[in-house]
Amino acid sequence: MSAPRPSRFARAGAAPGIRVSFEFFPPKTAEMEQTLWEAIARLAPLEPNFVSVTYGAAGSTRERTHATVKRILAETMLTPAAHLTCVAATRAEVDAVIRAYAQAGVRHIVALRGDPPGGIDERYAPHPGGYRNAADLAAGIKRIADIEISVAAYPEKHPDSPSVAADIDMLKAKVDAGATRAITQFFFENDLYFRYLDRVRGRGIGIPIVPGILPVQNFKQARNFAMRAGASVPAWLAERFDGLDDDPATRKLIAAAVAAEQVLDLVDHGVTDFHFYTMNRADLVYAICHLLGVRPGKGQTPHPEERVEQQRT
Ligand SMILES: Cc1cc2nc3c(=O)[nH]c(=O)nc-3n(C[C@H](O)[C@H](O)[C@H](O)COP(=O)(O)OP(=O)(O)OC[C@H]3O[C@@H](n4cnc5c(N)ncnc54)[C@H](O)[C@@H]3O)c2cc1C
Repeated sequence: MSAPRPSRFARAGAAPGIRVSFEFFPPKTAEMEQTLWEAIARLAPLEPNFVSVTYGAAGSTRERTHATVKRILAETMLTPAAHLTCVAATRAEVDAVIRAYAQAGVRHIVALRGDPPGGIDERYAPHPGGYRNAADLAAGIKRIADIEISVAAYPEKHPDSPSVAADIDMLKAKVDAGATRAITQFFFENDLYFRYLDRVRGRGIGIPIVPGILPVQNFKQARNFAMRAGASVPAWLAERFDGLDDDPATRKLIAAAVAAEQVLDLVDHGVTDFHFYTMNRADLVYAICHLLGVRPGKGQTPHPEERVEQQRT
């Protein structure tokens, strides 16, 4: 008889175990603000490791990101992580944002380079008086305050990168500059993540490489994101959503099934930390967390292998 699937035992219990984090974007309108806060209220009882708030392209949401992070600090028990990019800004401008976060009590920054202001088709050029890239930014943050730093990682390599090896060298530079966690760009084929992880470990990088999971609420939108991010969209995924453009209810069920399949397979291969791109919507992410054994007010779930051991003894 084959060994039981560890994910079958991913149930609520005591730490240490499966840890989740949630990513939100800062709202533009009062209506979007309400949607965001409904999502936060629904997901907060799952006691995520942290919740992150993105920084709009070229710093366009600087104030809104800051306001959202401050409200999370003021009104919830959650630990916020503020995304920060260095594109199109001087060091002094970026340093002022870092200092403001440190003063507000933010203890975690997701340090990013950002995309060129003209979009991904434009060649990236650092601001003449700015940080050169995410590694340079991470070093700058560490010079200013003792803040935890997460950075981005790309299982299918960053589109600007000439090779996976060069891309992983960049990740190494970010770790050497002080990053203690990498969050991946989303991917749909877990093998891409595992192959990448092997290469990252082979390069001597030991920090957690947390898979970024995008539950596909809207296939066309996800395909557009993927195109811009250099992530591949497998034919089987398109096939699953085929014919459902006018059927949101079925689309949602399919989305939950696809994401469930992906995270449970990751659990079965020993993954314990997950970062969810929530798109400011709680329902799919909540359901997937439930499947992972993450329950309101119960803290984190034990590691699946511990559960298997518990079942055996
Ligand atoms: C988890 C996650 C969160 C994100 N959040 C945001 C956000 O909030 N706001 C936003 O605008 N964008 C965000 N992005 C997108 C990100 O800003 C873009 O992917 C950007 O193009 C690269 O940022 P980076 O921090 O990965 O850059 P870096 O790690 O600095 O560089 C990316 C790649 O460019 C190449 N490169 C950079 N510098 C050099 C160099 N000196 N020499 C050679 N090659 C170099 C390398 O191949 C490197 O892998 C996010 C991405 C991820 C995965």
